[in-house]
Amino acid sequence: MKVFKFGGASINSIDRIKNLSEILQNNKGEKILVVISAMGKMTNALEKVAEAFFEERKEDSLQLFQKIKEYHLTQLKYLITLQWKRATNELQNFFTEVEWMLHDKPVRDYNYYYDQIVCSGELLSSTLISFYLNDEKIANKWIDVRDLLRTNDNFRDPIVDWNFTEKNAIEKLLPLFDKTDLVITQGFIGSTDENESTTLGREGSDFTGAVFAKILKAESITIWKDVEGVMNADPKDFKEAVLLENLSYKEAIEMAYYGAQVIHPKTIKPLQNKNIPLYVKSFLDTHISGTAITQKIPHNLPPIIIYKKNQVLITLQSLDFSFVEGLPVTSLHQILDEAKFKPNIIQNTAISLLVCVDDIPEKIEQIALQASSIFDIQIQRDLTLLTIRHYTPEFLERLTKNKEMVLQQKTKETIQMLLKEI
Ligand code: ASP
Ligand code: MG
Repeated sequence: MKVFKFGGASINSIDRIKNLSEILQNNKGEKILVVISAMGKMTNALEKVAEAFFEERKEDSLQLFQKIKEYHLTQLKYLITLQWKRATNELQNFFTEVEWMLHDKPVRDYNYYYDQIVCSGELLSSTLISFYLNDEKIANKWIDVRDLLRTNDNFRDPIVDWNFTEKNAIEKLLPLFDKTDLVITQGFIGSTDENESTTLGREGSDFTGAVFAKILKAESITIWKDVEGVMNADPKDFKEAVLLENLSYKEAIEMAYYGAQVIHPKTIKPLQNKNIPLYVKSFLDTHISGTAITQKIPHNLPPIIIYKKNQVLITLQSLDFSFVEGLPVTSLHQILDEAKFKPNIIQNTAISLLVCVDDIPEKIEQIALQASSIFDIQIQRDLTLLTIRHYTPEFLERLTKNKEMVLQQKTKETIQMLLKEI
């Protein structure tokens, strides 16, 4: 058994959906669980619907949703001929579920409505694709992942109930594979024990893939993307970026931790637990080997370069020049926790604390306000955090040329520098 995950970009046009079916055909004979995201930018569009609804702009929310409906119906028209009536009915059912809510008034919290509305993106895309594959004589079964993946009701950031999900997968998902080689389901969404929909956090479909790969003891999971694989830098920041053909789970987690847009650490953990290889491959050119993320630690990794732009350095100095330790440090952590603000770097000096964070003005204001009773505060903006894993002197020199180093932190494997253009 294998798991394939297709993200929004891999299904954002008729051609790309046709390409997906080719990929599946090239893997004929394999049992594959296909995990699908919402098409293109549909999750963003649905977020706008949820916002409008919650702000009680009913007409806006209905209009925005109308566009989403039209988009999917257009795709349907071009993709599906044989069963278009049934397919239209299925889509219509999902539309109705959302519209029925949009006609109401919000009485619960935002996150709850967000999940009930935004979850439809994946339900619509996976339904379209399942019907299209049937049309193409690629036999498959569609399953609503909300009947399998159980979470608690912490909407938008729920915890997965692994035991219940495993039980469901064994009872309801595995038997489908007795009848067909392909099962199509949704990434990113789940449901509570009261049948309310939940979403697992943006880009959460990879995690869904990993959950089922672990439960089904899959031989591998492949994430199909519009890039060649995982690179050692974002080609937009660094022209000579190269493909990393092999990565260890640990390296992938480290990269994600430092801000590389690779695979979420949450996705890696279940795979690492069961030693299931994760392949990142290009759906545009399936001949490129892509990246294999496994237990094996590759030798001679090139330096890995990660830029985080729009950084702010907050300098907190004790008001009376007393040493900053113990209580003030604890208070700062409390303040950051309360603001749900994860620092990218924290550094202590004798009488000050330095905190580097993403520039989210409301949060910075909140922190500054709360900390101002204990500290004197200075804020420096427009900085870039550069992290280099497996750094070499040449790389360091090259990447810091014409830049002022505001802060630096270094271990044997990783150097982090907060830089300012000069
Ligand atoms: N559709 C969701 C998102 O765009 C989940 C995913 O793509 O993984 O965040
Ligand atoms: Mg997506």
